[in-house]
Amino acid sequence: MNLWQQWKQDRRVTVRRPGEPDAAGRCVVYWMQRAQRALDNPALDLAVRAGNELQKPVVVFLGLVPFYPHANVRHYRFLVSAIPALADDLGERNVGFVLRAYPDHSLSRFSEEVRACLVVGDENPMREPESWRQKAAQDLRVPFWTVDADVVVPSRLLEKEQYAARTLRPRIHRLLPDFLAAPKKIKAQVAWKKPRDLPALSAQHDLLQGLKLDSSAREVAGMAAGTRPALRILQEFVQRRLAGYPRERNHPELAGTSQLSPYLHFGHIGPLTIALAVQKADAPAAAQEAYLEQLIVRRELAINFVRFNPFYDSMECLEPWAQRTLGDHAQDFRPVLYSEKQLENAETHDPLWNAAQKQMLLTGWMHNYLRMYWAKKILEWSPSPAVAYQRAVTLNDRYELDGRDPNGYAGIAWAIVGKHDRPWFTREIFGSVRYMSYASTSRKFDSSRYIEQVGALERRGRV
Ligand SMILES: Cc1cc2nc3c(=O)[nH]c(=O)nc-3n(C[C@H](O)[C@H](O)[C@H](O)COP(=O)(O)OP(=O)(O)OC[C@H]3O[C@@H](n4cnc5c(N)ncnc54)[C@H](O)[C@@H]3O)c2cc1C
Repeated sequence: MNLWQQWKQDRRVTVRRPGEPDAAGRCVVYWMQRAQRALDNPALDLAVRAGNELQKPVVVFLGLVPFYPHANVRHYRFLVSAIPALADDLGERNVGFVLRAYPDHSLSRFSEEVRACLVVGDENPMREPESWRQKAAQDLRVPFWTVDADVVVPSRLLEKEQYAARTLRPRIHRLLPDFLAAPKKIKAQVAWKKPRDLPALSAQHDLLQGLKLDSSAREVAGMAAGTRPALRILQEFVQRRLAGYPRERNHPELAGTSQLSPYLHFGHIGPLTIALAVQKADAPAAAQEAYLEQLIVRRELAINFVRFNPFYDSMECLEPWAQRTLGDHAQDFRPVLYSEKQLENAETHDPLWNAAQKQMLLTGWMHNYLRMYWAKKILEWSPSPAVAYQRAVTLNDRYELDGRDPNGYAGIAWAIVGKHDRPWFTREIFGSVRYMSYASTSRKFDSSRYIEQVGALERRGRV
């Protein structure tokens, strides 16, 4: 088998447009959508290997559009602030970087301009970027391959929608040994030379200039974007906080989790890098296992859900038992109802819920334990489960830096329609979907301290 056939059979690779690379072309193009990093990036690695085999340079192309569904200034600022360092990191691997913003974002036009031999892309199970990849496969004139670069176990190997973590876990664990290996950092042998008419990227240049963006959420301060900050956070987490993870992860007031979700969402760090650092860490096995359960099993369950369930962002994704029970309780009296605006402005009677909402508004991140409570209360305080679902998706996607992510849709589906969960005791409004009360939730951790911490953030005006 020659190298090309070998690569095509890689379990991460999907051949979108078949054919042999055009040997007369000038370079290999990597169309970077999701995996915005130069390190531990199987799509980039494949592009570099292909370039070396063809003895051609490699260039990364990123097309920036202002209309990505539910993305606003908060998300775009985080994305573009990582770009200058990304370009430098790619340069260290001899790989070029070209960013083109709307209306000059066309991949096929760029590929023609630079005379690509082959285009490699990365993957993301969300509807919109997948439709762009399908269109690219039609428009490009050269072979187009994509690589499932942001999971540990390639998502296609899970074959179909998994019912729950318990059905996915054994499959993932069986496959893990094949994929938990440190990637080699290969350099492009032929360095990319920037054509003279391509403008250089400068840190001073505002990459968002001229783009009409949704400004419904302001940018947040205090979380530096990019691979280097993500690696620093990872290092600090494995050295200081991983050992306490099983004990502290459900304590929002203790900041015991890694807070790496925005970096994973933007592809600034890969899950494999995190998993290997956790495995290598000097921490109890129980802590390593607890963390890897979230990072791999729960995260890849969410990716599986979005990849295989076309209704992932609406209530229609629900299981028959949830449909029955929520239907049975559709007409229940709802003593407390809030409008979407009241929820958005954190104007409820519940101080814990308001604090969680404010944490998200102010910092672009909310603790997992409170995300569960937050979404359950939206169900309780909305006129119907369908309205609750849409409100939760809208607010989560608008304000969380890690929003618009499979984890968000799976988390909301879990909280509101019992996805990946099981039926519990029946009660008003929720039917047998699991309920969380203020009294029991606020007793599980030092909720007064958490509310005070968010109050302090608010007083400092951290936006
Ligand atoms: C209603 C609701 C909404 C959510 N919205 C989002 C979202 O928009 N984006 C997002 O990334 N996560 C979301 N989650 C999942 C989870 O809350 C976050 O991933 C987690 O809080 C991120 O914090 P961390 O990085 O400190 O997590 P850690 O505890 O440090 O975990 C490490 C990584 O494991 C993954 N992970 C952790 N918990 C979960 C989980 N329950 N499900 C899937 N993966 C998990 C994340 O990638 C996380 O970064 C949501 C959960 C719920 C219940």
